[in-house]
Amino acid sequence: MRLLEDGPYRYRIEPTGRMRVPGVVFASRALLHAADQALEQVANVATLPGVVEASYAMPDVHWGYGFAIGGVAATDPAEGGVVSPGGVGFDISCGVRLLAADVDDAGLRPVLRDVMDALDHAVPRGMGKGAVWKIRDAAELDGVLTGGSRFAVERGHGVQRDLDRCEDGGAVADADPGQVGTRAVERGLGQVGSLGSGNHFLEVQRVAEVYDEAVAGAFGLRRDQICVMVHSGSRGLGHQICTDHVRVMEREMPGHGIRVPDRQLACAPVESPAGRAYLGAMAAAANYGRANRQLLAQAARRVFQRVAGVRLDLVYDVSHNLAKLEEHRIGGRRRRVCVHRKGATRAFPPGHPELPPDLRDVGQPVLIPGTMGTASYVLTGVPDGRAFHSTCHGAGRVQSRHQAARGVSGRDLRARLEADGIAVRASSWRGLAEEAPAAYKDVTAVIEASEGAGLCRKVAKLVPVGVVKG
Ligand code: 5GP
Ligand code: MN
Ligand code: MN
Repeated sequence: MRLLEDGPYRYRIEPTGRMRVPGVVFASRALLHAADQALEQVANVATLPGVVEASYAMPDVHWGYGFAIGGVAATDPAEGGVVSPGGVGFDISCGVRLLAADVDDAGLRPVLRDVMDALDHAVPRGMGKGAVWKIRDAAELDGVLTGGSRFAVERGHGVQRDLDRCEDGGAVADADPGQVGTRAVERGLGQVGSLGSGNHFLEVQRVAEVYDEAVAGAFGLRRDQICVMVHSGSRGLGHQICTDHVRVMEREMPGHGIRVPDRQLACAPVESPAGRAYLGAMAAAANYGRANRQLLAQAARRVFQRVAGVRLDLVYDVSHNLAKLEEHRIGGRRRRVCVHRKGATRAFPPGHPELPPDLRDVGQPVLIPGTMGTASYVLTGVPDGRAFHSTCHGAGRVQSRHQAARGVSGRDLRARLEADGIAVRASSWRGLAEEAPAAYKDVTAVIEASEGAGLCRKVAKLVPVGVVKG
């Protein structure tokens, strides 16, 4: 593979073989090194029918199913462009929600232990351990699949601001529950308002640094303030949808004359029955993901209100595993393309028409979890943002779960974190060890590369105070 340095924090993979466009990797030299095998996947994605501009990798890129995690690619439906479930991932619409408390760190400390114990009790997680919301039947689930967090708020689980500050106003319009299979429905019924496993969490954080007071202020953030970050997705429902639709596409690819270098890149033209079916089911899972985070946020709100008399207001909610039809200027003209972001976060710039009025002048809040032992970041989109206005989604793994668990025991890790003043409420020792901070890249280096590459701008740094781990 030929890699050329192509600007600050920017490398180019020259097209070879069946690549239709180059690969572009945003990274420092050290992060590029850590990207390793994922770069093969970036090159593979560049062969997909209808792919435009480039196959992109964010600085936190690492190996994933078919597409790398930290990959962004757009295809043009008018030119036979495809949609690929592997370009979204199994946890469809996995994403991050950030809430800001009306209390500072010092004000919460006296009751922190009680708050953490209550969160430990109130946040369902792990495999099949119940959910905040008991969905009665498939008909009620349809409400979630079409209405997302709007449906949850209409049922009394939240306030209007929760919709104003959520990507797509809390729900996408093009969901098609008819394309969600019965097994996916079964798995989804009992999980609305549940974290899921290991990498998912609900974390109490403190705003440790503010880089831009004006933007932070517009987001609703100030130094020393307490925040709550929720990371979760569409649970078993999204996973089953991905599995089901990959299977159909694998079967139908030859009929469309599509050949891919890796089976895991199974895909179908956006404008085909299989493509439309997946996009409709994926949108339903996206709505489910938002409703899930909405219910988890409600559980946290009740705890903070009851134990500490503290209110939580939504800063923003954004997915990092999604494909979306968006308009972008490509090669001098506006085109409607299918943007896959897998382990990558949309980062709309100031002035973007889809932003709510109170964010229009400052840009979209971009929420980047780091690790439970280091830091997380809030960023914003920039004018001329690259990769279809996308940036990183986290620190990105460097160790497999297995490697991480070999490196430290869950008990030792908790003791270390607690010694650093971070309260830990884990659901399993093994799960905790798999998520050790050493398993991830240096989030600060990832953010520096993302900003240096012109993908986004830093707004605030958050540090962990207490973590409820999936
Ligand atoms: P993913 O969606 O790829 O599973 O995870 C996104 C990012 O979340 C990871 O790249 C990692 O940086 C971050 N992360 C995982 N566990 C934790 C945690 O407990 N706390 C925080 N703040 N970030 C985490
Ligand atoms: Mn996830
Ligand atoms: Mn995620």
